[in-house]
Amino acid sequence: MSHKLHIGKLCIIGVGLIGGSVARALRECNCVDSIVGAGRQLENLKRAEDLGVIDAYSLDLAKAVEDADIVLVAVPLGAMQRVFEQIKPHLSSHTIVTDVGSAKQSVMAAAENVFGELPATFVPGHPIAGTEKSGVEASVAELFRHRRVILTPHAKTDKMALAKVRQLWQACGAQVMEMEAVHHDAVLAATSHLPHMLAYALVDTLARMDDSQEIFDYAAGGFRDFTRIASSDPVMWHDICLANREQLVKVMRAFSDDLHRLCDAMEQGDGEFLKTTFTRAKNARDKFCG
Ligand code: NAP
Repeated sequence: MSHKLHIGKLCIIGVGLIGGSVARALRECNCVDSIVGAGRQLENLKRAEDLGVIDAYSLDLAKAVEDADIVLVAVPLGAMQRVFEQIKPHLSSHTIVTDVGSAKQSVMAAAENVFGELPATFVPGHPIAGTEKSGVEASVAELFRHRRVILTPHAKTDKMALAKVRQLWQACGAQVMEMEAVHHDAVLAATSHLPHMLAYALVDTLARMDDSQEIFDYAAGGFRDFTRIASSDPVMWHDICLANREQLVKVMRAFSDDLHRLCDAMEQGDGEFLKTTFTRAKNARDKFCG
């Protein structure tokens, strides 16, 4: 963990699971003088203040970002551009802006649309950590501990800004790496976005069956493990799917082809194919978990 980080004023736009967890983590290491939260709903911000996650709040984004050293944007992907538009006229020249969006090309495109070009002080980021829960109540200081955070700096990203955002995440206990945004979106489509699509699709298919009640009554641990992420916020996932649809559709089609092959093998009673597939998958997962 870095002990050198000092942030005077941190503004968090979107004090939910991710924004709230960053605030809690940075509070624990005493590296921020004040954290100001911003969002749309007063009750949510009040709740965040009551929980001690933020020091102050404002519904007015202009006021919230005033003189901030860092602005962390932690709203759903579909709201990023509107937030950039609202804060643009009020950012000081020294203010670093970073985000936590789950797809990176769309956030960078939104920033480019608003600022004309990607600002040097804009450092796009994505913590590879989360849960199926939403809102500040679900936030925890240890969410990012020993987890990865991917930063996708662009050609003009200021080195000092990049170093500061890196330090911020290290102070949260995360391991920080850098990647091209295009590569990030392709990798995350496979490792995160596809599994969410499978969980949503499976639960939805079962829920629409005539005997769905009985199916859910008898579902056990395996079903719970596999489908946990189908409890994730639909708005957030709607935004992620649309933002990363090109990569996601590609990997969903590849998966769909494999599923058809598995189906064909069963129809043909091809036990060898099944054993080979399951063994290869078990080995890959054991290696991942080991
Ligand atoms: P969340 O718990 O629902 O929090 C989102 C926050 O944004 C809420 O505080 C909400 O408060 C605020 N908000 C929503 N729309 C807004 C708008 N138009 N303008 C201003 N504030 C708005 O969601 P989250 O899980 O923290 O996700 C936030 C971001 O993190 C998303 O971009 C997501 O892709 C990314 N992310 C999520 C995970 C995960 O596992 N959950 C992991 C990595 C990255 P109000 O409703 O009061 O406005």
